[in-house]
Amino acid sequence: MKKKNEDKFEDSFLIKNSGIFTKSVHAGEDRSRYADSITTPIVQTSTYVFKDSKDIEDYTKHGKARFEYGRYGNPTELVAERRLSALEGAEDCLIFGSGMSAITTTILALVKSNDHIVITDDAYKKTLEFCSSYLQRFGVECTIVPFGDYEALDKAVKPNTKFIFSESPTNPYLNIFDLVKLKEIAKKHKVLTLIDSTFATPYNQKPLEFGVDLVLHSCTKYLAGHNDILAGAVLGRSELVEEVRKLHKAMGGVIDPHCCYLLLRGLKTFPLRVEKQNQTAMKVARFLESHPQIKKVYYPGLESHPHHKIAKEQMKGFGGVVTFEIKGTLKTAKKFLDSLKLCYIAPSLGGVETLITHPGLVSYYDYSKKERYALGITDTLFRLAVGIEDPEDIIADLDQALKRSTKK
Ligand SMILES: *Cc1c(COP(=O)(O)O)cnc(C)c1O
Repeated sequence: MKKKNEDKFEDSFLIKNSGIFTKSVHAGEDRSRYADSITTPIVQTSTYVFKDSKDIEDYTKHGKARFEYGRYGNPTELVAERRLSALEGAEDCLIFGSGMSAITTTILALVKSNDHIVITDDAYKKTLEFCSSYLQRFGVECTIVPFGDYEALDKAVKPNTKFIFSESPTNPYLNIFDLVKLKEIAKKHKVLTLIDSTFATPYNQKPLEFGVDLVLHSCTKYLAGHNDILAGAVLGRSELVEEVRKLHKAMGGVIDPHCCYLLLRGLKTFPLRVEKQNQTAMKVARFLESHPQIKKVYYPGLESHPHHKIAKEQMKGFGGVVTFEIKGTLKTAKKFLDSLKLCYIAPSLGGVETLITHPGLVSYYDYSKKERYALGITDTLFRLAVGIEDPEDIIADLDQALKRSTKK
């Protein structure tokens, strides 16, 4: 149960006028402080007690603001939702137990059978799978358009199209969606727009300012930032988020209170981390671009990236992920991977530890080589998600592993 006006700081300087670093620490907190504790309490409960029958009726009949049952909300979660709303500049936010729970619940809340949706082809693999296969079981048709082909996107929209779903930047090539063009197309056809902004975070990009209707995040990545929890969020106008909230109560992909506390803690330092990761990724991208053993680097901060110009226009920073191809074969790639000492070999991104993945061996292991290559997932492609270590140490690790990769 949530009441907008119960947030006494909603109109205060903390929400309206402060900068992103201040908001990350303070926004959403109840300044009355339970037991004078400076940190937000973890309200570890599954249900909430009514004092008596009058208390029940105050809630059910007279709309008293309070909590009822764990699946419908939790005080620790509410603070995190308010903070994320302030950071993204959204009217409302709903948090989930994972990014995929946020994405699938949001999509299901918006469609019914005989609707049509449009999604771009390099969306997160599980999102694409959900839209193109699972939704069809319920009579929701999905058109997948090539990322960056705005003409195809415009043509794909039909009278029964509910929304256009895309991401920016995307995985693993860090393609950037032109949000101005997206809005033009959506406005012309009167359809909703959904952007998965996980790779950007509200530090680097604010899709709502471009007229996007709903922003989605896997908070598992930069927002929580410590590779220790899974969480997701949807943000946007109240009436849309409310539609999702209604379904969420039935779908039940809730986040638990302790996890929410960790999200809140992570959020306090998220702009510091992302600023550092932007800088480190830029240094690493420049190092790799000048390295003789590197075939190609994909980083939107580099002039060589096909979407560098759009990225500069709509982003404050270019993010902490650098994708690159090394010269050689799958054998060279494996040797490179096996020689790394600092970078952990693991999927995911956005945490304090630098992670590297070989999409061909991990996310696309079940594809044939031909299928993989058609998607641009080559034998020597890597995705590096920089952490907050010293950039020089990350670079030194990559350098020594590259040297070893060609040794017999
Ligand atoms: C990780 C990720 C997801 C899924 O989020 P989970 O928290 O793992 O469920 C969705 N979209 C993008 C872009 C991601 O990186």
